[in-house]
Amino acid sequence: MQEVEALLQIANIDLGQRGIGKVFSEAYLSKRVSLTEPARKLLEFSDDVTILVGFPIPPKGIGETDGPLGALCLALALEDLGINVKIVSEKSVFNALKSLWEKTTRYTIDITKRNKVIVSIEVPGRAMDGKYYSMRGIEIFPENLDEVLFRKSEGQITIGIGDGGNEAGMGKIRDLIIKHIDLGEKISSVVPADYIITGGTSNWAAYALVGAISVMISKNLLKKFDENYYLRALYESGLIDGVIGEKSMSVDGIPHAILEKMFNLIKSTVDMLINK
Ligand code: CA
Repeated sequence: MQEVEALLQIANIDLGQRGIGKVFSEAYLSKRVSLTEPARKLLEFSDDVTILVGFPIPPKGIGETDGPLGALCLALALEDLGINVKIVSEKSVFNALKSLWEKTTRYTIDITKRNKVIVSIEVPGRAMDGKYYSMRGIEIFPENLDEVLFRKSEGQITIGIGDGGNEAGMGKIRDLIIKHIDLGEKISSVVPADYIITGGTSNWAAYALVGAISVMISKNLLKKFDENYYLRALYESGLIDGVIGEKSMSVDGIPHAILEKMFNLIKSTVDMLINK
């Protein structure tokens, strides 16, 4: 199944030039980031999956468009497979997600205790000093969803998705975040996950994960996902671009026209790999 890693290569194109490309290269060579293992675990323990999502952008703590699209794509794909899946949302993106995915719930400490697989997508992960930071080093005040990964119970499997190093899960490659990301020492999360997936945006990493599952079951689960529709819906719900810091039909400063091409490239590559 090594060929699914081609999807990871695409997802890690560092268009924002924030350093994740270098982090990915080293993490990939040292086998600390991959799609094969987390995709397999999701299929193997698919009876009950929880997706954590939501990153509040300073200064107002408004939720951003990176993360929710990936969460919706993964949730719809897993539901399509008959898997019992729910999204547990940070408060900053809850209303936007609830309007698009009825099974979205708010976070409580107990909510994920019974779930076998936890996928955290673009969730703030605490730094070494116990605080949470934006990529620019500004302190933020999220709900502590990263606690779920920190306190995972025996037998639970955690998958952390991020694109900046300050997300839950990235503690697994903290050394590389410090080496390659600006302010890495300050902002990098200490919260690890069993498996991590990086990306040029976290959405792309999540699409690549859905793509890897698709290749494994020979069914392209990305086909049904209309990224443009969901991006517009999130935009209209008030979510903002996390890099630009305001409302925009974009993700992490990357305009909609390029997002569309990236999504299509991942989707078409899945078709290619299935038909190989
Ligand atoms: Ca991001």
